[in-house]
Amino acid sequence: MISQFTTLERSKSLVFQSELNFISKSTLDYPNIETGGDLFGYFTYSGFPVIMYVIGPGERAKRRVDFFNQDEEYLKSVGKELRDNFGLQHIGEWHSHHQLGLAKPSRHDVKTVVKALDTYQLDRFLLVIGTIKDASSTINGFLFTKEKRLDYDSSPWVVLPGESPIRTVFDAGAKSPLYIPKTETASIVDLQTVTLEEPISKKATYNPKYWMSNQNHQRVMNDIMNQLEMKMDFHNIILTQNEESKMVSLIFEDANKVYRTCFPMEYPLGPPQIFESSDENTCNPIEAVLEWKNEGSLVTTTVDYINQTIQIFNKQMTA
Ligand SMILES: [Zn+2]
Repeated sequence: MISQFTTLERSKSLVFQSELNFISKSTLDYPNIETGGDLFGYFTYSGFPVIMYVIGPGERAKRRVDFFNQDEEYLKSVGKELRDNFGLQHIGEWHSHHQLGLAKPSRHDVKTVVKALDTYQLDRFLLVIGTIKDASSTINGFLFTKEKRLDYDSSPWVVLPGESPIRTVFDAGAKSPLYIPKTETASIVDLQTVTLEEPISKKATYNPKYWMSNQNHQRVMNDIMNQLEMKMDFHNIILTQNEESKMVSLIFEDANKVYRTCFPMEYPLGPPQIFESSDENTCNPIEAVLEWKNEGSLVTTTVDYINQTIQIFNKQMTA
């Protein structure tokens, strides 16, 4: 039987309430055609986008029912001011699907962003899609990375209260003429929010006896993923959950192969199981040659165990 598994989200975006309000009002300005703009801020150490300032469309932006093209000159001049004065980077863009009924990137959007990642050699890019629902707006973020490419993460919001300090200062003294929404009041519905402390999608549910049911262990998993990527040179790391057993696996690659590491019920008392395949239905793990010592840092122990097991296995294969 083929087991079903779902990809768990790894991202979240931090944003000031004022910037969500700006997107909402700008979206509501154009109920029947696309509009949009750009996102400025930076990325945290974990790779989460932080939106400090949002701009709307420039005067020469092109708006149609099914596409939006920013006014490049506007983007350049405002972008330069934000960079020169506040060190902010262009971290993404937003556009509205108004009442098209699509609250996520279209296939065309996905292709465009992946092409931009390649063209501008970006590590990551945030795409925000607004829609209009009963005279209110929805706002959803999607994080694209050069590792996952087409397989983007939806990126729920950590909302920072009040007005962005950049907006307070910049709006008062900007040299570029800024787009000001005509709609006076923001109205946002269906906002997907998370807290900073929740490292992984709260959509996942676990058996209460399973280690991942503990929030601290979800943080451990996040650190394991980061270390496999940063210290061990594995990439395209994806966390999946088996829909029946509720156990999680990590799927990742080195230069030659794809691997899957399953975290069984008895983990961390027992070791994770490593498979030379991403297939959930592969039953024979790589033979455990190392002793599993559940002591010291669980992150380091686990990352070293996975890495060494794979290195030994690959040496045996080429010997
Ligand atoms: Zn679109």
